[in-house]
Amino acid sequence: MGTNDGGRLFFRSEVFTPAARLRRPATGLTVREEARDIPVHADCDVLVVGGGPAGTAAAVAAARLGARTILLERHNHLGGLSTGGLVVWIDRMTGWDGSLLIRGFAEELLARLPADAVAGPPREAWGSRDAATAAWWALRTAAFHGTVTHSPTVCPEHLKAASLELCAEAGVELLFHAWGAEPILRDGAVAGAIFESKQGRRAVLARVTVDGTGDGDLYARAGAAFADDVDERDIHHCMNTSWTWGGVDMPRYLAWRAESPGEFSEFMRRGKEAVGFFDKAFASWRDDVALFMGPRLAGYSAVMVDDLSAVEVISHRLMFAHLARYRAEAPGFEGAFPMLSAPQLGVRHARRLAGVTPVTRAWWDGRVSAEEIGVSPSLAPAFAPVSVPYGAILPVALDGLLAPGRHLACDATSHSFLREIPQCWLTGQAAGVAAALAAGRGVAPRAVPVGDIQAALRAQGAFLRLPAEGSAPASFALHND
Ligand SMILES: Cc1cc2nc3c(=O)[nH]c(=O)nc-3n(C[C@H](O)[C@H](O)[C@H](O)COP(=O)(O)OP(=O)(O)OC[C@H]3O[C@@H](n4cnc5c(N)ncnc54)[C@H](O)[C@@H]3O)c2cc1C
Repeated sequence: MGTNDGGRLFFRSEVFTPAARLRRPATGLTVREEARDIPVHADCDVLVVGGGPAGTAAAVAAARLGARTILLERHNHLGGLSTGGLVVWIDRMTGWDGSLLIRGFAEELLARLPADAVAGPPREAWGSRDAATAAWWALRTAAFHGTVTHSPTVCPEHLKAASLELCAEAGVELLFHAWGAEPILRDGAVAGAIFESKQGRRAVLARVTVDGTGDGDLYARAGAAFADDVDERDIHHCMNTSWTWGGVDMPRYLAWRAESPGEFSEFMRRGKEAVGFFDKAFASWRDDVALFMGPRLAGYSAVMVDDLSAVEVISHRLMFAHLARYRAEAPGFEGAFPMLSAPQLGVRHARRLAGVTPVTRAWWDGRVSAEEIGVSPSLAPAFAPVSVPYGAILPVALDGLLAPGRHLACDATSHSFLREIPQCWLTGQAAGVAAALAAGRGVAPRAVPVGDIQAALRAQGAFLRLPAEGSAPASFALHND
């Protein structure tokens, strides 16, 4: 049971460590920062802060509609956690019947990757319930509940490159090494952002700003309401730095796991006993590269620097503790070497927007929102695909800003799947379209008719279930809540 909503818990956290004791005590001291004029670096239609899956999709979608678009990112690459966080397992984009639900930008970006940069089931296998096929893909993270799904693992460098190319082709202007520090507020609405950089503090003015930071940095600082409650036992708020190892023989390891389950669970038990938190290796896009997206550490805040620092230290220590045991005991890992610890710390949850239409567990009943901007696969076959409404990325009161990605408006258990990479591409694309339309018309994002956003999304290849204008009404019930 999730404590937030009384529902069933799907993915558990590994450990809950109260982090408060790791934090420095408050000094009670302050310093005064003097007021000063800040140079305006640029003036644009749409400013996207954060170049993760949501921000990249938003920037490309907005620029394609003719908006002058700037994408500002604190690191040196695009893709956010899907590249810099080494979260290279792109979760399900298909429904349990194998139909492709998350399309548009997601489909286009993945289609750009060369064949040797993607590992996943072929299209004809999506939705297959054949026991042998599902068992084979289950070990390679592409089958769940006995069903083969479209959830490939990808090469992070190729994903970065494809993201860059899509931005360049659309005319997105990139600003790397720029940390979005403060929203600029005019008459209570967001009108751009101040960023911190090697050039000092500078400003970008914008008609519409998209907060793609994943942590709601901009909307929180602009005063928008948000939730940051966590369910201690649920995975959704766990943090850790992922890593990859090279020099492994994944097929040999996976065969061992499948053929000697007793030996494997004994290996895991001994590892847990020796190391404390011990994780399974995941298959990656290459047979000689292993992926670790845990151990998942709970009880830390994603917006407190002492907590972030502690998670980095623990994760890096755990990586080497794992390496010693895997090398010594796991078939296929004798020659493993540390390849990369993720440049970006893995944060699943920091803040969730107080949005106009939050997705709650009630939405898992198959309702289709009249303001649908996309369709998410559900957590389990017992649930219907989930309608994602425009109001999930629209703040209740704050104007001038949209908030796609993992900090959107939803309850804690719906967050478990709405934060996944494909869903962030989905909400990001919708935010970009809405931002460009709002900027072009000189209106607030909430004033853009949802039908116009839906039409533009469809034109960009997104999948929506509402009937196209002039066509016969579909047979599903429409809800507008
Ligand atoms: C360990 C782990 C495992 C996961 N497993 C999976 C999985 O198997 N499959 C799956 O699909 N999803 C998985 N997820 C979830 C998924 O990776 C994220 O939820 C998703 O990447 C969020 O996308 P986003 O664009 O909202 O944010 P992010 O990916 O976090 O991107 C945000 C970007 O904004 C930048 N940024 C942040 N703040 C600022 C600022 N103030 N100024 C400038 N730039 C800023 C960051 O540098 C980053 O590039 C996992 C997450 C974690 C942590």
